[in-house]
Amino acid sequence: MKIGIPIEIKNNENRVGMTPAGVFELTKNNHTVYVQTNAGFGSGFFDEDYQEAGAIVLNSIEEVYASSDMIVKVKEPIEKEYTLIKPDQVVFTYFHFASSETLTKAMIKSNAICIAYETVEDTDGALPLLIPMSEVAGRMSIQQGAKYLEKPIKGRGVLLGGVPGVPPGKVLVLGAGVVGIQAAKMAAGLGAHVTIMDINMKQLRYVNDVMPNHVVTEFSSEYNIRKRIKESDLIVGGVLIKGAKAPKLITKDMLKDMRPGTVVVDVAVDQGGCFETTKATTHEDPTYVIDDVVHYCVANMPGAVPYTSTVALTNVTLPYVLKLANLGWKKACDMNPLLAKGLNIVKGEIVYKEITEAFNWEV
Ligand code: NAD
Repeated sequence: MKIGIPIEIKNNENRVGMTPAGVFELTKNNHTVYVQTNAGFGSGFFDEDYQEAGAIVLNSIEEVYASSDMIVKVKEPIEKEYTLIKPDQVVFTYFHFASSETLTKAMIKSNAICIAYETVEDTDGALPLLIPMSEVAGRMSIQQGAKYLEKPIKGRGVLLGGVPGVPPGKVLVLGAGVVGIQAAKMAAGLGAHVTIMDINMKQLRYVNDVMPNHVVTEFSSEYNIRKRIKESDLIVGGVLIKGAKAPKLITKDMLKDMRPGTVVVDVAVDQGGCFETTKATTHEDPTYVIDDVVHYCVANMPGAVPYTSTVALTNVTLPYVLKLANLGWKKACDMNPLLAKGLNIVKGEIVYKEITEAFNWEV
């Protein structure tokens, strides 16, 4: 199969759909891989790395789309790419169709086969192609939180790990899923005192089993949250209710109970956020202050660490890319029902019913 890796042209996107290591596996399996020149530059991979791995480097995005049976990307196509996509071409990427009617209509019109990373499933119902980005964001939340706790950036002026003779900072993590566990692990590693909350006792039992003693689990309830926020230096929001908006666990009135300079990092911002005062921010201007509480609410946190994110993403997408390339999309999806869950739009037809529901379209 001919596989194309275009450069990501969405604003500030430095990740790329495939690493040279991924290209190597594909060419080893007798596939032809076209990589757009400089596609990997933002992630620290150069044209020569791709060529050494067996790729053919093409000069323009038009050539990559025109030459390929399957396009492997990171972000959803943006307007400039809509007309480059060919009928019957497989496009394997994050689409998040429910958040854009324009994109959905464009992909219906393209007659392509749109397989969305975010809806491919695991046997346990988990979303394997979303997990690495949650891992990155969870770990980053503490790194960012620690930075914004510094006084010059309006934080409380607290060093999370403390020093001999000074107690460590206190971190409250809401949600003990992928984001929450990675955040708790990083905070614990810095020596902070960590409380992690969830409504799922199975998750709390797991955290309790695997984390050190200075990570304390507590059931998530309004009463417990109100109590803990008064003493927390850094609060991380990592809750998710699948397919729904995040619950507002911290309301605006609760900010007054927090100490000035407390930092909140709302990783769940892409689902509306779990703080009432959350509004999405960007890496250029990541924070704002309300009632003396510093808010960090960047919606694409992994975009700031493109090397790590690209490698983490390719690690999990590559087995699926190989299946699609070796068998063709139809046979690969027939043989792998969990990969088939990624099929969202096939040759002009929506096959993932949640998309139609999101726009209240008649079927
Ligand atoms: P997950 O499903 O692994 O974990 C979510 C956890 O929240 C679950 O354990 C669930 O039981 C818990 N939860 C639900 N309601 C709760 C409540 N009332 N109180 C406490 N816990 C509650 O999800 P995840 O992969 O950790 O993702 C979390 C969020 O982070 C998602 O919205 C995801 O889209 C987002 N995310 C954002 C970025 C970013 O760049 N901002 C990157 C990756 C993921």
